[in-house]
Amino acid sequence: MDTYLIYGLGRSGIAAANLLSKNDENVLLYDDNKTRLAEIYNSGLVPKTCEILNKLCAKTLCVVHCIVLSPGVKVSPKLAGLIKKLNIRVLGELNLAAYFCPAPIYAVTGTNGKTTTCTLLYDMLRSAKLGSHLIGNIGIPFTSVVDSISPSDSVVCEVSSFQLENPAGLNFRASAVLNLAPDHLDRYAGFSEYVDTKRNILDCTHGKVYLNYDDPLVRDFGKDRTDCEYFSLSPLPEGIAGLYYQNGVIYRGEQPLLSLKKCKLLGKHNLYNILCATSLALYAGADVANIERALNRAKLPRHRLEFVGRINGARYYNDSKATNIASTTVALECFEKNSVILLLGGSDKGEDFFGFLNNLPKNVYKVIAFGRVGKKIYKIAKKCGINVVYAPRLDEAFIFSKDVARSGDVVLLSPACASFDEFSNFEERGDFFKSLVEQYETKN
Ligand code: ADP
Repeated sequence: MDTYLIYGLGRSGIAAANLLSKNDENVLLYDDNKTRLAEIYNSGLVPKTCEILNKLCAKTLCVVHCIVLSPGVKVSPKLAGLIKKLNIRVLGELNLAAYFCPAPIYAVTGTNGKTTTCTLLYDMLRSAKLGSHLIGNIGIPFTSVVDSISPSDSVVCEVSSFQLENPAGLNFRASAVLNLAPDHLDRYAGFSEYVDTKRNILDCTHGKVYLNYDDPLVRDFGKDRTDCEYFSLSPLPEGIAGLYYQNGVIYRGEQPLLSLKKCKLLGKHNLYNILCATSLALYAGADVANIERALNRAKLPRHRLEFVGRINGARYYNDSKATNIASTTVALECFEKNSVILLLGGSDKGEDFFGFLNNLPKNVYKVIAFGRVGKKIYKIAKKCGINVVYAPRLDEAFIFSKDVARSGDVVLLSPACASFDEFSNFEERGDFFKSLVEQYETKN
């Protein structure tokens, strides 16, 4: 029996405590917020066999074999030093659940498109009756469901760069990397540190790794490796194994595999998501007919290029999930010339707005810069000669867009920024935007 310390009693910490207790491990609990910890313990959300620690020091930690860190917890440098000195393993919630998971895990990472791709893959595996479970950004901690998973099931798992920072114990049957673009630069020393973190997925995978051939950085992950295959929007060069798309059809080599003629997902970026999900689904054992069936009824998850409604002939789209420049760029590729009013802003993640605005796609004829980073965007946009206005908050930005939008225009909330200046997450921002549109919605 090992002794685990759960540090941080949020939803995933509570689930981890229950999982470990069920597996007869010794569980200690710690949270910086002592009142919350006591409340959780007293309310019976964790088994009474768990023990509360009041202090983290050499004396209390010397019995601990492994610390399970909750996502929000920041370890102080002093504590990190102590953990190292005492040689204690540190695991995240995903690492712990993966360790206990009896079924193969299919993992997807990349800067953008993870949730969409995982949802597609999940639907393909479900359609093929492969006992699929969807884990990741969907709010249910993996540790809380791992007990209900059987060895013949399959688990689809969205993996972020944060989770790959500590790959200990992660063990994927197959994985895929969609794309790499600057993101979370407020967390990493630079883009190359972010890329190196993503690269860790290769070492966590014991079967095939599927890589986007058209993204040079992702393609490079496969250099000198024999376990990689690729996907592309052009025919793959000879000797390169994988899937590619051409004229509505997915091919493997010369062989047409399946048709996308009935698939309704918009945009080039979704073709990558489809190719990526199809590669993993085939590897997991799904047959082509069931993959095609899932694609024919596929819909994008909420807050991704979601059509909300019309106001006086203008169409309003909620793409609140576009929290970086790369995702806003692909969203803009989906609309016609000179028709887009773009709502851009929120809280800054340290991206290059000058580079973006200086080459802003020509279909954007007006930018409304809003939120905490709004003034900065406004100033840069002015320098780039863009037709821009500033609104302190999203509701004001919306009112502005409504007043200037012409019939046939697209008003696109694709903010390229995090939401935390006004909202607790991108979902709340998207729902707020939708509620504004719905208040003024007209029939056409
Ligand atoms: P993630 O889970 O990686 O954040 P999502 O599937 O939630 O990705 O999509 C987030 C946003 O990224 C979408 O609103 C869309 O505009 C953009 N996006 C989706 N797929 C891709 C892709 N393959 N490449 C680039 N951008 C994408």
